Amino acid sequence: MAAIETESIECVSSLDGIEDEEIHSSVSSHVHNSHHTQFSSKPRNVLLASEIGPTGVHELLECPVCTNSMYPPIHQCHNGHTLCSTCKSRVHNRCPTCRQELGDIRCLALEKVAESLELPCKYYSLGCPEIFPYYSKVKHEALCNLRPYNCPYAGSECVVTGDIPYLVSHLRDDHKVDMHTGCTFNHRYVKSNPREVENATWMLTVFHCFGQYFCLHFEAFQLGMAPVYMAFLRFMGDENEARNFSYSLEVGANGRKLVWEGTPRSIRDSHRKVRDSHDGLVIQRNMALFFSGGDRKELKLRVTGRIWKEQQNPEAVVCIPNLCS
Ligand SMILES: [Zn+2]
Ligand SMILES: [Zn+2]
Ligand SMILES: [Zn+2]
Ligand SMILES: [Zn+2]
Repeated sequence: MAAIETESIECVSSLDGIEDEEIHSSVSSHVHNSHHTQFSSKPRNVLLASEIGPTGVHELLECPVCTNSMYPPIHQCHNGHTLCSTCKSRVHNRCPTCRQELGDIRCLALEKVAESLELPCKYYSLGCPEIFPYYSKVKHEALCNLRPYNCPYAGSECVVTGDIPYLVSHLRDDHKVDMHTGCTFNHRYVKSNPREVENATWMLTVFHCFGQYFCLHFEAFQLGMAPVYMAFLRFMGDENEARNFSYSLEVGANGRKLVWEGTPRSIRDSHRKVRDSHDGLVIQRNMALFFSGGDRKELKLRVTGRIWKEQQNPEAVVCIPNLCS
């Protein structure tokens, strides 16, 4: 009994007498069927890779050289030391473990074992309930809806990842990003020397409305020979959700204006990807200087816009500029 308690912390009822050894598919399918309601909001009793223990099968499938999971062809030396195919191509035919000649031996037994494994998605702790055969797990994880988001801050190589609430506080506290509540905006971008495009590359403001967070990017970059300015919105959440919203941006002066209307892109799409696809308000340099007025020495752009929810359901909120926040 003690063993069961330490191994399966989340398991409230061990009364079905799950055998210690029968850990994989039997437990997972079992949980699917009978504990559904009991574990509806809690992590289910699925075996995590880290819980299998130091001699677990999963550990055997970790390449001892690079520690990545191994996929066929899995190789081994004459003494039985395994390694992944990427590492094999790098070690110049010497086993990294025993320094003997490596040869060209497949480890079919381990490949078969891997095939029989079922493991939870690695974002299990973030709420993903999915269980996968070993070989399709990685494919799912790359697209898992609950995988953490990358920090949306542009202009730095920030490696922070997390869920949306975490990233919002990270942007505010660590990147000192301006936070606004409301679905309309009116921003002035001023740059005293507009020739220095490289130094004016990006600005980010976060908007909070409809219970969601949006990143308004403004940047200058070089398009071919010409510097251009661009403003666009990204949604802090998944693409499916992003499609529920629209936004507009306007910039103008002297009786002319440019208007952009679009759907915010998810922050799953990198900032650079959105920029390079020109999915936003793109302002040519000449136009930008014209809109700035004055002697064309200074860039002074006033960008206004709003975010609204697309009315797919009757409860959708209608956003009237300056009235809702
Ligand atoms: Zn490796
Ligand atoms: Zn060896
Ligand atoms: Zn997942
Ligand atoms: Zn960051």
